[in-house]
Amino acid sequence: MTKYLPLLLLFGVFACQQPKEEMKTKITQDPHSFAKPNEAIVKHLSWDAVVDFENKQIQATATFDIETSEGAKELILDTKALSIESVTADGEPAEYSLGEYVEHLGKPLVIKISSETKKVAVTYTSSPEAEALQWLSPQQTDGKELPFLFTQSQAILARSWIPLQDSPGIRFTYDAKVKVPQGMLALMSAENPTEMNDEGVYTFKMEQPIPAYLMALSAGDLKFQSLGARSGVYAEPGVLESAAFEFEDTEAMIEAAEKLYGPYAWDRYDLLVLPPSFPFGGMENPRLTFATPTILAGDKSLVALVAHELAHSWSGNLVTNATWDDFWLNEGFTVYFENRIMESLYGREYSEMLAQLSLQDLRIEVDEMLAGEHPEDTKLKLDLKGRNPDDGVSSIAYDKGYEFLRLLEETVGREAFDVFLKEYFTKNAFKTMTTEAFVEYMKTNLLDKNGVEVSSEFYNEWIYGQGLPDNAPVPSSNKFAIVEDVLAKWKTGESIDQLIVKDNDWNTHQWLHFLRNLPETMTVEQMTTLDDYLGFTASGNSEITHDWLRHVVKNSYEPGYDKLESFLVNVGRRKFLTPLYQDMMDAGKTDMAMEIYTKARPNYHFVSVNSVDKIVGWE
Ligand SMILES: [Zn+2]
Repeated sequence: MTKYLPLLLLFGVFACQQPKEEMKTKITQDPHSFAKPNEAIVKHLSWDAVVDFENKQIQATATFDIETSEGAKELILDTKALSIESVTADGEPAEYSLGEYVEHLGKPLVIKISSETKKVAVTYTSSPEAEALQWLSPQQTDGKELPFLFTQSQAILARSWIPLQDSPGIRFTYDAKVKVPQGMLALMSAENPTEMNDEGVYTFKMEQPIPAYLMALSAGDLKFQSLGARSGVYAEPGVLESAAFEFEDTEAMIEAAEKLYGPYAWDRYDLLVLPPSFPFGGMENPRLTFATPTILAGDKSLVALVAHELAHSWSGNLVTNATWDDFWLNEGFTVYFENRIMESLYGREYSEMLAQLSLQDLRIEVDEMLAGEHPEDTKLKLDLKGRNPDDGVSSIAYDKGYEFLRLLEETVGREAFDVFLKEYFTKNAFKTMTTEAFVEYMKTNLLDKNGVEVSSEFYNEWIYGQGLPDNAPVPSSNKFAIVEDVLAKWKTGESIDQLIVKDNDWNTHQWLHFLRNLPETMTVEQMTTLDDYLGFTASGNSEITHDWLRHVVKNSYEPGYDKLESFLVNVGRRKFLTPLYQDMMDAGKTDMAMEIYTKARPNYHFVSVNSVDKIVGWE
């Protein structure tokens, strides 16, 4: 509670200074932003930037078109570790001040304006430690010759490289001019170039309004390959071909998505494959999904991630959670939509395997969270005031959100649910949604409209209650039943080579189901037999490798240790890191965890470092 106190005081001070006039649309006050959008709001950003790899800094001028309410006196922007050089309002030097630093949030940049002010320009430099920016050395890239930069702005890190009203409830359009060193291509969440030029100067345009967390930039030795009429992939030259093969079905995914829930609103859909230190599987930056190379499995078996990021073009980017407490509105809808795209392309059996794996993850995480420090985080509607909004990134928003929407589908029937969702995305396009507003919308447009009577308990329990309700839908898969049968027999002592043939036709998801349902404790002999026959340690599939390495750690299977280290040093995807480091700590392998982390930590983005530091007790 003490952490939150300074924030309250700060908001209190600003609030007193500004008696509010009535605004056209009242914007919900976001606990993770200093901005007072109801007084003065950014509508457009013109960003003119130079990317300085040597000093790991961005020098830029951000010029804002603003709209003010009557009597407006201040424009408040969020910043984190930015050095402000100068500020102008309509071309004249403006008075400004940086407020007190607040943990997680940074500092408010308070700029004096009047209700007549139209344009505000801020010239500034980002810090080499800017949390959104990851500067990679040539050694950390595939080509090993040029450095590389990428941003990760979600949830509230955009403010570490651009002063912005950094709240998902505030949308603006932007254009940009970015200078990068020769031999590099720069890309943004915008209309992008497809070829390098000699000057290293690139221009960008994003004509659809987006919230700050969708601001994105990357620069490096990047090439483009077209995938279809409105899709393509960018990657380092050495990765481009395998990426283009892996993402071959992208155009078909866009078509499937449009058929389900209406036209794609962002013109093009391209993918950018980043070096392996990218902390997430993917980030739904509009027009240009940022993706981890760990989904390049060589057999398209992990492309559900593309369906997920594409689905965000509707859920999240088009209809956006109003605050990070409503994060499930972004992610739950996206997992549901992802699942439907996968079903359209690869069949129900396939999507049911995905759903079952996600339910398994969810059950484990719910149990852990209920026993942990914040059992209230198992509610769909979160309360993250005074905390890092990144704490809300758990299976709850994603998989509990999915389960709830699937339950709604099963309750009203698929046809009615699809009509509802399509309308939801159309009516609320380029708007924000709170959980409370969604509940009202759902009551009227889904339940009442279809004459479905349920008590309010039915949805309140899911949204405002802890844990996973008993009526959670259970997906079923015949292919998983085969795996379960093999496991049951293996557990009674039958040998693995009698139960399955080598190089059988199991797909990646079946192997994951197999690995996740092996006993927690196995003898080294059992591990050796499985590994010799099925080749888990040698697998090139990142998901299989990760699940196998968990057994390697728990059962002290030494032949897997080299792979464990190389995997953790090379890959920075947080989803893979946290379980493996946690397993090492739980197994008393503190020295091992520290030794590997010391080598690996410089390769990780802030988002991953922040999580793993806590697990291993890094100081
Ligand atoms: Zn997502």
